[in-house]
Amino acid sequence: MAVLEILKYPALILRSKTQAVGKVDDEIRKIVDDMIETMYADRGMGLAANQVGINKRIFVMDDSEEMNQPLCYINPEVVEQSGEIELTEGCLSFPGVYVKITRPNYVKIKALDRNGNEFVKEAEGYGAHCFLHELDHLNGITFIDHLSPLKRQMAEKKLAKARKVTL
Ligand SMILES: [Zn+2]
Repeated sequence: MAVLEILKYPALILRSKTQAVGKVDDEIRKIVDDMIETMYADRGMGLAANQVGINKRIFVMDDSEEMNQPLCYINPEVVEQSGEIELTEGCLSFPGVYVKITRPNYVKIKALDRNGNEFVKEAEGYGAHCFLHELDHLNGITFIDHLSPLKRQMAEKKLAKARKVTL
């Protein structure tokens, strides 16, 4: 396994829609393993393939308290969502930026697992937000796209500042 480089906004691949996975084979499983290792290395709750420069519809996520239950979602699709809740989100591609975003409070997703078998998973609250945040990534949408133009500008400024400090 390997820790991959996480691309930071405004990397162009964060703006492109990713391609569906045709066959879940060893190559895909290696990508998944590397993505899980990368997610943990950066203490993220979720990571989408285009955040590490891979143009495929895959995200990994772990919303367990102990952070020891990673799951991969290949070709994910929302099958149900309901409610509405405002929560604070962060993103590994936007270090230092945390913004309040309103999304559904309940989400059910259908995807393929690492063996290519279809499964369904539900999440509430932060888990539901994480599902939709990662799915957005796969469609070339980042969390600041949900903000008003003014708040978006503020988030971009914060990101620029945070990046200067870490350099
Ligand atoms: Zn993100």
